[in-house]
Amino acid sequence: MGDTPILLWLRRDFRLSDHPAMAAAVATGRPVIPVFIHDETVETLGAAPKWRLGAAVGHFAGVLDGIGSRLILRRGPALEVLRALIAQTGAGAVYWSRLYDPASVARDTAVKAALKAAGIAAQSFAGHLLFEPWTVQTGAGGPYRVYSPYWRAVKGREVLPALPAVHQLRTPSNWPESENLEAWQMGAAMRRGAAVVARHAQVGEAAALDRLDRFIRGRSERYQDRRDFPAEPATSGLSENLTVGEISARVVWHAGWRALQEGAAGAEHFLKELVWREFAWHLLHHFPDLAQANWRAEWADFPWRGDNDDAEAWRRGMTGEPFVDAAMRQMYVTGTMHNRARMIAASYLTKHLLTDWRVGLKWFEDCLIDWDPAANAMGWQWVAGSGPDAAPYFRVFNPEGQAEKFDKTGSYRAKFIADGQPLPAPEALEFFAACPKSWGLSPDQRYPARRISLDAGRKRALTAYAAREK
Ligand code: FAD
Repeated sequence: MGDTPILLWLRRDFRLSDHPAMAAAVATGRPVIPVFIHDETVETLGAAPKWRLGAAVGHFAGVLDGIGSRLILRRGPALEVLRALIAQTGAGAVYWSRLYDPASVARDTAVKAALKAAGIAAQSFAGHLLFEPWTVQTGAGGPYRVYSPYWRAVKGREVLPALPAVHQLRTPSNWPESENLEAWQMGAAMRRGAAVVARHAQVGEAAALDRLDRFIRGRSERYQDRRDFPAEPATSGLSENLTVGEISARVVWHAGWRALQEGAAGAEHFLKELVWREFAWHLLHHFPDLAQANWRAEWADFPWRGDNDDAEAWRRGMTGEPFVDAAMRQMYVTGTMHNRARMIAASYLTKHLLTDWRVGLKWFEDCLIDWDPAANAMGWQWVAGSGPDAAPYFRVFNPEGQAEKFDKTGSYRAKFIADGQPLPAPEALEFFAACPKSWGLSPDQRYPARRISLDAGRKRALTAYAAREK
């Protein structure tokens, strides 16, 4: 391979620190050509995840510029694009960080085989997770299906130190041509929502590291006690950055671990949450249809309702159930939703509205800037009751009771619901600037009546559940 360049194919790893594929490319001493490919897996992303990925790409292109390198942008099927770049640059190797969703695995397996057959050194590296999904196994040799034993299996494992940041990439003698990111219009499907969500997003590695620092110094101590209160800034907010790899899970893990050693009691719970992310990827690796099919086969005949008017009201934050509507509007305004609110909104859809969890999963997939195929699928199936280690179906979250417990003063609801308020919060008003005009919503509207009484919804869900049990 001599001094031929290495193509560094970036996908969800937009960072300079703790980047094994980039570090390995640098270690060879050869020129490195960073590349991002807008292929089918990008094309099919939901509106908000695509916008957020575009923001990550644009930001990282600037970062690479800053260290004297570039990010080459190309559109088309990955293998075709890589072959063309190899022909244009004389590259002898392609390096990338592994992804684990079924579509990426299928693509990468085919790309690797084809490149190797053509004599190109195609090499994939870890970096997106703490533990490669296949390296954690039960005593009997299979996958874990329950979180607690998974946590016990990994908590004592060594997590290698994070790799130092790369400061320089050797440049090739000729740069291949690049396409224009703006021309790709990765935010187009969000329409006017993009400008609103952009005000809440924190894009790039520096922002992610700052977020981590603020969390560790200010919040990790009380994380366990306060993480369920959606009006409080008690969690890290790092999911947005982790999903596009603007920070590595390893960097987050070590920061949490240090905080724990230094006496921040809440930090262990934080590490456990980070391991929920690992568990979700472990599940998706072993059960690739986690986002499509009921994980528990006995749920196949459950009489879920398909898409329906109630679900549409749910999507629009117009169910008349304030905690649920606040949650749905938070997602539309900020691109994220507090974890407690996700559980309540998902439970309301699947139980009170008896609607198929896949209807909700799809909407989250379209609206979340922290969309993660594994955590989203696990979360939905967990709430619906059809998933591994799931909440029992008969445990129906009562949004009113949950609000009383976790939003006692009503500040979360007031933050995101403007209807009927004399002085609505800015975020509550932003919802009307972000949502599609075709919804015909305005802050002056009357807040809607409930779609269904909480008691009737609960009983309907439990009756359907009891019928399934027979
Ligand atoms: P923190 O509380 O600061 O936790 C730190 C990190 O741990 C998070 O950034 C995240 O990477 C991980 N984590 C925390 N809780 C979970 C969890 N329950 N499952 C998996 N990982 C977790 N998370 C996503 O990242 N993307 C999704 O698309 C997503 N969809 C969800 C859908 C439903 C129905 C449910 C119930 C949960 C979903 N989650 C998802 C999990 C969780 O809600 C978010 O990870 C969390 O709210 C992110 O906020 P944070 O970064 O402040 O988390």
